[in-house]
Amino acid sequence: MRRNITVDPLAYADPVQNPEITEILDLASGEVLDAVQWISGRRYDHLIADRVSIRENLSSVPRFSCALCPTPVYLVSSPEKRFFFRHKSEDGSCPAKTRSALSREEIQALKYHGQRESEAHKAAKSRIIRSLAADPTNSDIYTERQWRSSLKPGSRRQPDVQAQTVFGRVAFEVQLSTTFLDVVAERRSFYRQEGALLIWMMAGFNPEDRRLTTDDLLFSNNSNILVVDEETAQLSEREGLFHVRCHYRVPEVNAGKLKDRWRDEIVAFRDLIVDFEKQTAWAFDYAGQANLLLRQREATRLGGEDDLRQRICSFWLARNQKTPETVSQVETWQNLIGELSASGVPAPIGDRYDRAITGLMNGVLSAREKTPVGWDFKHLIQVVHRICDGYPEHALTMGVALREYECEDLIKAQDKKGKWAKRSHAMRQAILNGDERFLPDSGTLPFLKFMFPAIGARVERFLASGLGRSQF
Ligand SMILES: [Zn+2]
Repeated sequence: MRRNITVDPLAYADPVQNPEITEILDLASGEVLDAVQWISGRRYDHLIADRVSIRENLSSVPRFSCALCPTPVYLVSSPEKRFFFRHKSEDGSCPAKTRSALSREEIQALKYHGQRESEAHKAAKSRIIRSLAADPTNSDIYTERQWRSSLKPGSRRQPDVQAQTVFGRVAFEVQLSTTFLDVVAERRSFYRQEGALLIWMMAGFNPEDRRLTTDDLLFSNNSNILVVDEETAQLSEREGLFHVRCHYRVPEVNAGKLKDRWRDEIVAFRDLIVDFEKQTAWAFDYAGQANLLLRQREATRLGGEDDLRQRICSFWLARNQKTPETVSQVETWQNLIGELSASGVPAPIGDRYDRAITGLMNGVLSAREKTPVGWDFKHLIQVVHRICDGYPEHALTMGVALREYECEDLIKAQDKKGKWAKRSHAMRQAILNGDERFLPDSGTLPFLKFMFPAIGARVERFLASGLGRSQF
């Protein structure tokens, strides 16, 4: 004889490990639940109480059915006090018996069908019908009636509710907790081909507790979720105008980053923005607003960079290298370099004006202004020679700058003895032969690219591509 097993009432209940019925449908909420999880998540004493009430109500108001067939189920226990669900009547018709022979799609279709029979689903449908019927601009309101394709004979759908509305003929589907992506996608294309609109409605929505299936709807509908609940149904009836509740995300830029917060409001159905091609219906343009904010943020950033660039150039043009700098000038420069670092440009290291900066700024700004900057020269050609003598690492950059600012004719005119023509030819050959003395080191590139983007981009392209050298 088997010994009786006594379980601690406060312990969690034990499910059998491989039950025949793996999923059950909560007939009130329309949720499909995992049988093993549901059992093992309950305390033994509570489960026993549940078991009794489930059994008592089995014929009148069953609490659960099998997820794959409409038969109500109840909780039974093995002699070892392990629990599982059993059909009210086992007539062998349940597909759970031959589960392994079913495809994933077939199992999903069975579960979906079961959910549509739930009380939650019926209640949601009836609220949509009430809301539509209250508004005289709607007509031909039907539930569970076939929608035959006007294009493909034999092709048809059966939406939960359909009606003629301000947007033409619209199909309404109630999204339950587990409407599968396949179902969503396949219906969307059917109604698009029909030139009609499919609108998904939920019975309720909690942004903090979203399932993946809800997100499928949310993100394909411009981050708007439509709900018809008791409050909106009553409002529709009171005002004779179809209202829906819309939950949506509001984008905000916070410390330079895009963040969302949730809002919901009740809106008139006729005020929704609909798109037949995208099969969307929404109240708040999340995508449009997010794009706008991102563009504004980018404009602010670019504007800020432009401003900093100009201030650094102005400072450089105004300073006089021969007179000692005032304390406030030093401070201004240090602040500018600080801002530069903050924009992600590595600050040039070393002395206050280290070689990288002095040669670069004097050289490029001289080309830009077409007159010597920073050094006490008369002609641009002297600046060019000075760079090649004292700052060979900026020679390539200088050459690019002369071209960028169209200084070629001026240089030619100033190069009376042809000294520069010879020198630049020799340097070009050296560079082509792999002489790296005239190339900038990678440490100065970020600064160059920030201060003079067009020149920086060209120099960088040249460095990145051996082929580019032939174009020099
Ligand atoms: Zn079944």
